[in-house]
Amino acid sequence: MTTVETDLQGVVEDAAAHLYVWALKDIPQDLRDALAAARLRETSVTGIRVLETIHRNVNIADRDGNLVCQDTGIAVYTCRVGEHFPLHPTRIYAALKTGTERATLEHPLRSNAVHTITRENTGPNTGYRLPIVHWEFVPDWDGLDVKCVPKGSGSENMSFLKMCVPADGVKGIKRFVLDSIVGAGGKPCPPGIVGVGIGGSADYAMYLAKEAITRPIGTRNADPIVAQLEDELLELLNQTGIGPMGLGGDVTVLQCHIEHADTHMTLNPVAVNYQCWAARRASAHVSAGGDVDFDREA
Ligand code: SF4
Repeated sequence: MTTVETDLQGVVEDAAAHLYVWALKDIPQDLRDALAAARLRETSVTGIRVLETIHRNVNIADRDGNLVCQDTGIAVYTCRVGEHFPLHPTRIYAALKTGTERATLEHPLRSNAVHTITRENTGPNTGYRLPIVHWEFVPDWDGLDVKCVPKGSGSENMSFLKMCVPADGVKGIKRFVLDSIVGAGGKPCPPGIVGVGIGGSADYAMYLAKEAITRPIGTRNADPIVAQLEDELLELLNQTGIGPMGLGGDVTVLQCHIEHADTHMTLNPVAVNYQCWAARRASAHVSAGGDVDFDREA
């Protein structure tokens, strides 16, 4: 039993080391398609130029096997853990941390992690409570899905939370999302994905907003009421005229994704988490026996 657990920890560590570098270099096809579609519908000359520069940037990264952006971000992982997966989450976390460190040292990657007060570097993209892991536990399953989402600071700095009141309703939610994105302007390197978290509590709404940006581009919330709000916000956000890199144009965002939770009768929390055009992500599916299936599109 001990041997199996040790091997599985090594498998998850290897997977994390691969995912972090892979995500930084090879963006998913849905993102490539969304950027290509944005180029076709943009009418501003400057906006077209920006989108063509992004296109050239991605092609050069492909050709040279290099990163799509210099900001290697903070490593954020989302883990779906089956209840019968034979490695405890504490060991999964240890594997993700060591894998992140190995990727940073072996590639090598820029190390961004610092102590939040002293600003001293804390290690190879790890530190106290870094990397960040979101957990979901799945009944009647023995597998593990790990998704690595390196999160650039330019877009993470453009995160916003408002405790609307129920009387603000859906109008209040829309107004806050629009105000947030208009206020952010070009800072989060648009066009990207606007992640919105609604409901739950203050902390959980922001957690949900981060979950929303990890979804494949253009997927819709399973709840049709929420999905309709995603469509409406996407249209409104692209009427702001902020455009690529904030220099004006038709394409301000590639998508708007919303995750929601039920909430207290007197609460109406709204959180916004922006993901830049370099919306990097890569996944691995790990079986209980240690087989790994890498998946760029999940
Ligand atoms: S926000 Fe995104 S595209 Fe802009 S510098 Fe950071 S990682 Fe790069």
